[in-house]
Amino acid sequence: MSVVVDIQNVTVSYRESVALRSISLRIEEGALVSVAGPNGAGKTTLLTAINGLGRVLQGSVSVFGTKMAGRTATGIRKEIGYVPQMLSIDVRMPMKVEEAVMLGRYGRIGFFKRPSPRDREIVSDVVDLIGIRDLLSRPIGHLSGGEQKKVAIARALAQEPRILLLDEPISDLDISAQQTILNLIDRIHEQKRLTTVLVMHHLSLLPGNCSRMILLKDTKVVFDGSVEDALNEDVLSRLYGCRLEIIKTEHGVIVQAKVNA
Ligand code: ATP
Repeated sequence: MSVVVDIQNVTVSYRESVALRSISLRIEEGALVSVAGPNGAGKTTLLTAINGLGRVLQGSVSVFGTKMAGRTATGIRKEIGYVPQMLSIDVRMPMKVEEAVMLGRYGRIGFFKRPSPRDREIVSDVVDLIGIRDLLSRPIGHLSGGEQKKVAIARALAQEPRILLLDEPISDLDISAQQTILNLIDRIHEQKRLTTVLVMHHLSLLPGNCSRMILLKDTKVVFDGSVEDALNEDVLSRLYGCRLEIIKTEHGVIVQAKVNA
């Protein structure tokens, strides 16, 4: 497997603070990697660094063997679908779901050009994959949180990315919608074999195809290994600074705070 993301000794800062400190990791083509850790650990910053948007003070981020910097990063970013944590949808925006998904194509076709039949076909395929055909003529301001997440994932896939970055795609969703989105992430991974990096707080709900966990704490990678090794009471209790217990069931693993701990 070839390495598609190569992060070497990277430090990323915002004006006030360092958000990632001396991080090194490699992600191989076709992997589905989950990233977890306490609030403020640097998970979103890691995704923005991969996307070439972070303020890298030191080290280098290479994607597909090319260093993410300046114009080169703009070109490579077309190959990266990014679904941010906060979907800033203005409810007054007069845009239908179909147009919102088509936005994902504009990085490829150019903003002042009309979508070709091929672009429409790509959008149509993605719409079926995500299962949002019944929403196509709805204004995007009239969608529920779960529907918005699906549209955001569809838009990212319409871009035909080679890497998919998902930042907490199930936060704010009900249990059923969480399951729907996670099944979708598994299905996308199975069908497209996209290299996928997923930031997740819900450790009991990791997608079945996830084979690697990266745990961040206080700007650093504190664990990088298999899901099985990551879902360990000591590892997670240290990570979150509270006693956690892990209950294994025939349907999966439940991670929860230890009562009276
Ligand atoms: P969460 O689980 O809460 O989403 P996270 O692990 O994704 O957190 P980041 O969003 O990467 O954390 O933030 C890492 C650190 O950088 C935090 O200390 C945060 O306060 C800081 N930070 C994030 N975004 C900005 C910003 N735009 N300007 C200044 N500091 C920021």
